Amino acid sequence: LLYNEVQDLKGTIRVYCRVRPFLPGQKDVQSTVDYIGENGNIMIVNPFKQEKDARKVFAFNKVFGQNVSQEQIYTDTQPVIRSVLDGFNVCIFAYGQTGSGKTYTMSGPDLMTETTWGVNYRALRDLFHISNARTHVVTYEIGVQMIEIYNEQLLTLDIRNNSQLNGLNVPDASLVPVSSTRDVLDLMRIGQKNRAVGATALNERSSRSHSVLTVHVQGKELASGSILRGCLHLVDLAGSERVEKSEAVGERLKEAQHINKSLSALGDVISALAQKSSHVPYRNSKLTQVLQDSLGGQAKTLMFVHINPEVNAVGETISTLKFAQRVA
Ligand code: ADP
Ligand code: MG
Repeated sequence: LLYNEVQDLKGTIRVYCRVRPFLPGQKDVQSTVDYIGENGNIMIVNPFKQEKDARKVFAFNKVFGQNVSQEQIYTDTQPVIRSVLDGFNVCIFAYGQTGSGKTYTMSGPDLMTETTWGVNYRALRDLFHISNARTHVVTYEIGVQMIEIYNEQLLTLDIRNNSQLNGLNVPDASLVPVSSTRDVLDLMRIGQKNRAVGATALNERSSRSHSVLTVHVQGKELASGSILRGCLHLVDLAGSERVEKSEAVGERLKEAQHINKSLSALGDVISALAQKSSHVPYRNSKLTQVLQDSLGGQAKTLMFVHINPEVNAVGETISTLKFAQRVA
């Protein structure tokens, strides 16, 4: 193993909590984050409750406060990412209500600004960097594909004009070979454009679909000729907010039900794995079916749960942390 520092972390499932900063113009707003401890503890205060019931503590592998940079986040993600080059399958999830910072963590605010890149581009840059440094020992081939899951349907995002079908994890999803971060950025731009075109009829669909960027890595060891394969799934989940039955009708209600169903199916799978349960219910959602080979067994899972510290988000914050606590 090249990167066995990962082994010292308990189990193969880890949960990191990230607190979104207040947005510009919200400077002195009251926060529901009372305190962040050294050992992955976070205390939430609910100002709508009586003093004696107002505080709750949750425990995770790590908690990142408002001022933690994208670079620091990546430093704590890197060992898991690099294990893909050793042939591990890895899933990284971003969970949280809409507006809590999922896309910021995974992609960053802007494709073109390297300093604020999220986990996705940093991961690819890192994988290229290491694979290039190892060409005299192992030659790696790296490919990416993008899928979206919307209303329990799998949509393949065409990330090049001339797509070629390939059946790896996801049938019909186009897998595109890449050899530099530049290639990936070009593909992401095409993907975003194609997504925007397809989504015009569906208002703000991105918050209601799961988007999965998968990086396939195949390495050939030059001395022995042996082949290893690893797969990295970077998943920006649909917003976890509960929708009141009274608020949602028709299409919106259907979307909400599909999201609830798939997020709870994901929670069920991860918590079954965390408890080493003999039955893992993969079949209950499209998302868990698609990721089945990369959840459980030797695979590693990292879940980032995001919270919005605003007082009016406290209900969602607590339900997000409860969800995360169940899988931690
Ligand atoms: P989500 O994907 O969960 O809906 P976003 O990632 O789009 O949320 O974040 C909502 C807003 O907050 C965006 O304007 C984003 O740039 C900003 N934001 C989120 N997280 C951070 C952060 N850690 N630092 C600075 N701005 C952030
Ligand atoms: Mg988003």
